[in-house]
Amino acid sequence: MIEFYPLGKLVEKYSDEIHDAVLRAAFSGRYLLGPEVERFERMYADYIGTRHCVACASGLDALWLILRAYMEMGFMEPGDEVIVPANTYIASILAISENGLVPVLVEPRFDTLEIDESLIESHITSRTRAIMTVHLYGRLAWSGNMSEICRRHGLKLIEDNAQAQGCMTLNGRRTGSLGDAAGHSFYPGKNIGALGDAGAVTTDDGMLAETVRALANYGSKEKYVFRYRGRNSRMDEIQAAVLAVRLKHLDEDNEARRAVAEQYSAGISNPLIGLPMPMPSQCNVWHQFPVFAECRDRLQQHLAGCGVQTMIHYPIPPHRQQCYSRWSEMQLPVTEKIHAQELSLPISPVQDSEDTAHIIRALNAFR
Ligand SMILES: *Cc1c(COP(=O)(O)O)cnc(C)c1O
Repeated sequence: MIEFYPLGKLVEKYSDEIHDAVLRAAFSGRYLLGPEVERFERMYADYIGTRHCVACASGLDALWLILRAYMEMGFMEPGDEVIVPANTYIASILAISENGLVPVLVEPRFDTLEIDESLIESHITSRTRAIMTVHLYGRLAWSGNMSEICRRHGLKLIEDNAQAQGCMTLNGRRTGSLGDAAGHSFYPGKNIGALGDAGAVTTDDGMLAETVRALANYGSKEKYVFRYRGRNSRMDEIQAAVLAVRLKHLDEDNEARRAVAEQYSAGISNPLIGLPMPMPSQCNVWHQFPVFAECRDRLQQHLAGCGVQTMIHYPIPPHRQQCYSRWSEMQLPVTEKIHAQELSLPISPVQDSEDTAHIIRALNAFR
């Protein structure tokens, strides 16, 4: 069986370094708000190319904290709107709605899988305060034009960079540094994963970083003095030590993903299976390798029969989820088509070319 994402194998690849990192943190006597987190924040800000990085407990929290900080800073208030792609993972949308803000779903394009930029301006109202772009599947979902729209309408540009750590624009700027603030996830299955939950906010805005840091620490900047009603969302020292190891190898891991993706793109030739639209290599870190088929469920069964585990990202779009039943009448045909046809093939930095070749043969044999 070719596993969809062999996490254990990936951690094993760096086992000596991870072993040292975990033990160092475990016996340091400091478990929160300590030197490992501080060091990782510095490393990650340098890597992404922002002045500030604030570590927190998860990717959802990172996005939630950014929006809450903008509310505390007086830039947004309950009922204000945030534009977000309709085909994203639920966390992007939860971060908006759970702050009392209103998610405004915008269709993606079927070829790029990213928010359809030509639809953004028609969704802007007097209550719009931000655009949240999502670099879904590891693909760059940004253009200078998006920043220009934000500038023209006085909106914040927030990046959901949970799936695209290491991704770059053509002129070498990293995702996570392209807008006003970005949320990152280090969930174990992301391109850089912790041994549990972790996340971070990156920004050049010093006031935003300070507010996010306070909000993630009960709303406190000074011990036992509470400026905001915050939450406890801190990254622990052990995760920070592990992430420092994983960050050192992130570019190399992403290169290994690209090699798998190139082999798939060159090898898959079945007319029943649609491939992701090519983009310049540095603009895609291949968090997923999505393919598209009208008979997706049958394809998934066929692959399972060939010993290939696959996943669907995602089977039910946000506007069809029970938790957002107020949207149940919404028609979002492109989003629905993506959710009906998408199938993610195995891809990881430890996938060897024989396994990839086996998967390609299985795909090409599908009738
Ligand atoms: C994983 C993910 C998140 C949430 O990150 P967690 O660390 O799991 O909370 C947010 N947005 C997207 C697009 C994701 O894939």
